[in-house]
Amino acid sequence: MFHLQKLNFRSDLPKVTVSLLPEVLKHFESNVQTGNSTESGGQLFGTFASPHNVLVSLATGPQKKYHRFRNFLRLDLETDQKEINQFFKQGFHYLGDWHTHPVSNPTPSVRDRNTSKSRFAKSEHELTAMLMVIVGTTITSENLWVGLQNKTTLVELSGVRI
Ligand SMILES: [Zn+2]
Repeated sequence: MFHLQKLNFRSDLPKVTVSLLPEVLKHFESNVQTGNSTESGGQLFGTFASPHNVLVSLATGPQKKYHRFRNFLRLDLETDQKEINQFFKQGFHYLGDWHTHPVSNPTPSVRDRNTSKSRFAKSEHELTAMLMVIVGTTITSENLWVGLQNKTTLVELSGVRI
């Protein structure tokens, strides 16, 4: 069962490995966007195995307060901030966001790129880069879009086997 194993993604610049743990993949799988359903999404939390190795262990959402459309999802900053504070007390860092696209090979839309950039700028966090994961209709390292947003750039990570 592929989704019981973690999936790893890597970029060389910045040098980082991101591991999506099985619970996260399971959450993605149960929120895959098919038929006429609206976009789903939420936040990602986890820990740092080392400064260059991020373990994503929790995916949340969608929250009731989110505005969900076929091709767009508006998160709710107040709800999200409460969740960030709550998980921080339990030792989980906020790492970024995820949302769905109803296709097998998702890529970020222009709006996704703008949202990602402004969210990085506006949110209170101590991250040097924030994760953005786009979940298509298949949960594999080839079909998930995993990127890191910093102040200026959204870098795509590649799926790797470790
Ligand atoms: Zn999108």
